[in-house]
Parts: sequence; C-alpha cells; structure tokens
Amino acid sequence: MIRGGKTRQESTFNALLYLQKQKIKSKVMIHDAARPNFSKNLIKKILFEAKKNDTIIPVLKLQDALKKYEKNKILNLKREKFFSTQTPQCFNFNKILHYHRKNKNKYYDDDFSLIIDNKKTKFINGEKKNFKITDKIDFELLRNIHKSNIKIGIGFDVHRLVKNRKLLLGGIKIPSSLGTLGHSDGDPLLHAIIDAILGACQMGDIGELFSDSKIKYKNVSSSFLVKQIIEKIRDQNFEINNLDANIIIEKPKIKKFKDRIVSNIAKLCKIPLTRINIKGKTTEKLGVIGQEKAIAAEVIVSVIKYD
Ligand code: ZN
Repeated sequence: MIRGGKTRQESTFNALLYLQKQKIKSKVMIHDAARPNFSKNLIKKILFEAKKNDTIIPVLKLQDALKKYEKNKILNLKREKFFSTQTPQCFNFNKILHYHRKNKNKYYDDDFSLIIDNKKTKFINGEKKNFKITDKIDFELLRNIHKSNIKIGIGFDVHRLVKNRKLLLGGIKIPSSLGTLGHSDGDPLLHAIIDAILGACQMGDIGELFSDSKIKYKNVSSSFLVKQIIEKIRDQNFEINNLDANIIIEKPKIKKFKDRIVSNIAKLCKIPLTRINIKGKTTEKLGVIGQEKAIAAEVIVSVIKYD
C-alpha cells in the first residue's frame, strides 16, 4: 500500500519511492485519478512513443480567448502560444524520481512541470473527453458523454401462487397466505430484473446463466443471483441508468412495501434509489392473476456502457 501525501506531488513521490523498491528502472506513467475518461487509444499512443522518447505529454490547444491581469490592466494574450497539459504523462523513471527529489518542497500542478526544461519531450494530442473531474457539473458531463452508449432491456416473469411457500418481491418477504412456486426462492421481480439487465447488456437470459436443472440453484436466493449479475456487468463496465417495474398481483397491495423493495433493489444493484421506480398493478380479478393463481413482474432497465 502507498500512503497518499498532503499534496498531489507528495503522493506521486511516495508512489515513485515504492516503485524504486520494486526495482522499476525503465518508464513510468503518472495519471490523475480525477481523469477517469481517457481512452485506451491514448495509452497505446503513449506506449508507442515511449519506445523512442523519454517524456511523453498529452496536450490540448486552448479554444477560449485568453486574457490576463497585469498591474490593474487586462491584457490580451495570443492563445496560439499556449497549451494545456493532461495526464497520463510518461517519464524515464530515474529522471522523474530525481526531479521529484530535487523539488520536494515546491509545489507544481503536474509532474511535467518539474522537468519542463527537458528538451527531449514528445507532445502528443490529448483528448477533450479526458477532462479533470473538479466540480459537480463535471460529473454530469461525464455521465452525459456516456449516455450516447445507453442500452435498454426488458424482463418478464410469472410464478404460480401456492400455499406453504414464501412470497418474496425484490428480496423482501411479503406477508401473504400464498407464496410462489419455483426452483429458486421464486422472486418474480428479481427474476424479471435479472432478465432486463441481461437483455440491456446483451448477455443472454437468466435460464442460460442459472439453469433450473442445476441442483445448486435449488431454493437459491434470488438476491444472491442479482448480486452475481451486477458483478458480471460491472466487470464489463456497464452501469444501471434506471429501472422501472410493474408488479402484477391481485393481493396483497404492494404499496406499503414499495419503499423497502426499492431500497433493497438499490442495495443489490448498487445504484441510488432515485434511479428506481416500482408500480403495483392488479388485473381487475381477470385471468389467472386475478384469481390469485399467479403473480407476474415486468421490468425495463437502461444501462450505460463505459469505455
Ligand atoms: Zn422466476
């Protein structure tokens, strides 16, 4: 573990000292954690340039007009003369460690600032999307960029209602004289949620992933299955954007359980409550659901895929 310092520079220095103990000698890339949106392509370009250059720095041209205050006057500056630097920045390991040691008690905004007089620097084009998350609006921008990568999935499930079984909805036990029949714990809402998530992420369906012919899924907790699915989609950089569900049941009315169901789903799916909506429906005593022989759930989920 590397302990962070009081400043960015101190943290980087601690990391470099750690790497020195690991006997790293060649190159090192230093990146701001506050820039989560760099592309793989940027890394590839840096690695390519690192073969023949000591220092590689991604830069952006300035687009806004530039001014400065000087002795109570505002001066126009030529923006063509200026550029901004991003990270990841790549350095010769020993060199950057040396400059960090030399400048231990000074503070700079990035690591390139320490070796700015170094002539052997290769500048490459940075990426506008690789902006630094500084305030709340940057978070919104980050989400909005990825909203172009939104996908939608639908899920549906139905279970018979029988005596001597529990009724679970969204992982919450609902008091009822009838419960769901099923190979697992028979939670139709969580099953429909799983299918909607898998649909949105194009990962198949619940039956393919957790076959009911497998003994290990007998009476399995559906909450456990949801958790597994969430791990799986997060590994692939998917995040649930919103979830909307209908629970179709004659009795009992689910209204008073709604808040508990929503908060449990939020916990299982690792998303805020505000992204979830649940509606209770009856079928006006019509059909098998109206006759309390079955319960159904339908769910729509949208997901965002991060690069
Ligand atoms: Zn089911």
